[in-house]
Amino acid sequence: MSPLTGVLSDLDRVLLSADEIRARVTQMAQQIETDYDGKVITVVVLMDGALFFVSDLLRQIDLPIRLVTLGASSYHGGTQSSGQVKINWPAGVDFAGHDILLLDDILDTGLTLAALRERLLAENPATLRTAVLLDKKRPREHEVPLDYCGFEIEDLFVVGYGMDYQGRFRNLPCIGILKP
Ligand code: 5GP
Ligand code: MG
Repeated sequence: MSPLTGVLSDLDRVLLSADEIRARVTQMAQQIETDYDGKVITVVVLMDGALFFVSDLLRQIDLPIRLVTLGASSYHGGTQSSGQVKINWPAGVDFAGHDILLLDDILDTGLTLAALRERLLAENPATLRTAVLLDKKRPREHEVPLDYCGFEIEDLFVVGYGMDYQGRFRNLPCIGILKP
């Protein structure tokens, strides 16, 4: 595999290596598999940030899965939240009575996941749980109960492993902080 030295050179430092992410995602998959034993999981994924997380996670869960991808954003290309969430709700998907696992890359202000959870609960699922790879340690403007969390991180803007800055850096295998 290419060491991606081109894109990596824009990082100030690596917060989580590809190996650390891989090991933790495997643990999360095992936990989810145990918790949902005997069930079909309806996985609702927030694109595009959770793309690599969901891909690595779901391929290690030996249970039937329905995959639903959604677009939602509170960021609009910068590093600050805009305070509003736009949800592209999928047409024709049945959530009532299903066991839903909501997946996102990172919990920041909580605005996005709180809005999504509220919208999903209105569909009367059997259960609704939430998983994120990263939980930013910061005052939460919107409470989001987390059932699965990969790592707690400092309140810094991170890129890599699906997460972007202005559309770039999603393809970094690690998670890091950009140079100023
Ligand atoms: P929240 O609604 O919790 O404030 O923000 C959640 C969304 O903002 C995440 O799904 C993610 O797309 C984006 N986000 C939050 N913090 C970061 C960050 O540090 N880096 C990147 N690239 N995106 C972030
Ligand atoms: Mg996101």
